[in-house]
Amino acid sequence: MEHSNIDLSHLAKRLNGNFKRLDLSQRLELIGGLANHAVFTTSLGLEDQVLTWAIAMSKQPIEVATLQTGRLFPESLSLLSDTKDRYQIDIKEYYPEPEALKDYVATHGQDGFYDSVEARKACCNVRKLKPLAAALRYADVWVTGLRREQSLDRSSIEFVEWDDDRGLLKVNPLADWTEVQIKEAVAANQIPINPLHERGFPSIGCAPCTRAIRPGESERAGRWWWEQQDTRECGLHVGGDGGERGESSERGESGEAVSSLHEAVQPEGEIHSHA
Ligand code: SF4
Repeated sequence: MEHSNIDLSHLAKRLNGNFKRLDLSQRLELIGGLANHAVFTTSLGLEDQVLTWAIAMSKQPIEVATLQTGRLFPESLSLLSDTKDRYQIDIKEYYPEPEALKDYVATHGQDGFYDSVEARKACCNVRKLKPLAAALRYADVWVTGLRREQSLDRSSIEFVEWDDDRGLLKVNPLADWTEVQIKEAVAANQIPINPLHERGFPSIGCAPCTRAIRPGESERAGRWWWEQQDTRECGLHVGGDGGERGESSERGESGEAVSSLHEAVQPEGEIHSHA
């Protein structure tokens, strides 16, 4: 039977209902059973460290990947290495294309992102969005550490969403977790975290684009602080933000990656796991 993206959008809605009733390990089990190729992209933040730990413990077939932008804090690079050692897992690193990077620097300068929103988005495109597209090239499920509490923009995220631009299911298993729960999980399981958190950096991205927050500021106030509030996303988790996505065409239209999810959508509405 032919299935469309509408079927997969319905699948996302049904999974979303299921997720509400499951704990984190059950959520990961469901993802591991359903996906043909699930990829979790970590930026090494608190939530992502909790998810990396949970995936490592669960042994579910979920690939862990990170975007090596070339502008990360030394503390983040050190945490990446410590995390691999601690859990004995492969965290696949995706780098910017050298030619695209050369073009960016030639046009805007190494730190041209401070000059305009366009120049900043162009940098995020080269250093983050294109490597993300490569990381998700064969994925049918993209796992993230997004939480509703993190910002106003993220307050309405679902556990499972159909990402039409990328042609995959986007799964946020920690969507309903509070900051307190995250910190409790870190403490209880001695999960390695970035020492910058203790120095006022709740959300950590590239070094030149992240500052410590002041008392009373939101978690993400230190990201691209020189810009107006409404432009402060890099495009990884928002749609239609100025044509800097670039990844959809590289990944291909729908593609083979989603075929397994198509198979999971049964006419009578049941969800079938591959497990
Ligand atoms: S966060 Fe800053 S340095 Fe990193 S990719 Fe975006 S603009 Fe470039």
